[in-house]
Amino acid sequence: MKQYVVGVDVGGTNIKLGVVGPSGLVLVRNSFATKPFASSRIKLISALAHEIEASIISAGLTKKQIVGVGIGLPGLVDYEKGVVRFLPNIPGWSNVHLKSILQNKIKLSVFVDNDVKIITLAESTFGAGRGVKNLICMTLGTGVGAGLILNGQLYRGEDNAAGELGHMPLNEHGPKCNCGGYGCFERYVGNRALLDLSSRVMGIPMTTEAIFALAKKGNKKALFFWKTAAEHIGNGLVGIVNLLNPRLIIIGGGVSHNEKFLFKTVTDTIRRRAMSLQGSAFKIKRAKFKDDAGIIGAYVLVTNAQR
Ligand SMILES: [Zn+2]
Repeated sequence: MKQYVVGVDVGGTNIKLGVVGPSGLVLVRNSFATKPFASSRIKLISALAHEIEASIISAGLTKKQIVGVGIGLPGLVDYEKGVVRFLPNIPGWSNVHLKSILQNKIKLSVFVDNDVKIITLAESTFGAGRGVKNLICMTLGTGVGAGLILNGQLYRGEDNAAGELGHMPLNEHGPKCNCGGYGCFERYVGNRALLDLSSRVMGIPMTTEAIFALAKKGNKKALFFWKTAAEHIGNGLVGIVNLLNPRLIIIGGGVSHNEKFLFKTVTDTIRRRAMSLQGSAFKIKRAKFKDDAGIIGAYVLVTNAQR
């Protein structure tokens, strides 16, 4: 019986693969570096085909037991046509018909989507957002993105490009952003902005892990850093809470380990600034899945498409 999915999570640094079974259970996982293949699209697609087939064998399965392959990519992806429009961190990927190219190579159904949307599917089906009809799943890292579950469905937008939370302008006179805009949310809470903030607050640029360790020891500057970062995150979410009235905001990505010094201030900032009904109706939770989020979400993507 067909009941397994090969999930692939393409990142700028690593590509993770896993074979996932019913209830999102990961049977085998594997990963390889993106860099040796980043120069050539053809090489990367061949490597994907090879690794997908190898992972099916290492799970002790055959292709007859595989429903399909789900692939998450960091950029603009046309889910319906199966076309990768643009990947900001992997050169050479514009308008690549990944779905049809890979289907011809491996003779399995292939589905492609934006990576944050796939993570959102994992969290809403098996993770922190299980059973919640309206939620936002936010990822904080180099980039800041979000997936939206509205009325129980993943909201894609007309071009599958909805969810660019990081590029919501907070200040029309703010710093210039890579997207071409000014004062985007990402310019206040993305990794680059947090590094700048660390220089200003701590006196030297520091990693969020190092500042987290100092905050745990009660270092006042480190505590101030996290309070400032949390207020920026909260401020950026106020408009979203007013607009969408979600029950839950899931926070994942690099700094989400720091629940202790982050989540309370984020929550308080939103409660204080949002409209009273929406501002009292939401909760914040940490994402359940870390490294497996992309491959578990790929399972949801592929199995949902069979319905
Ligand atoms: Zn921007």
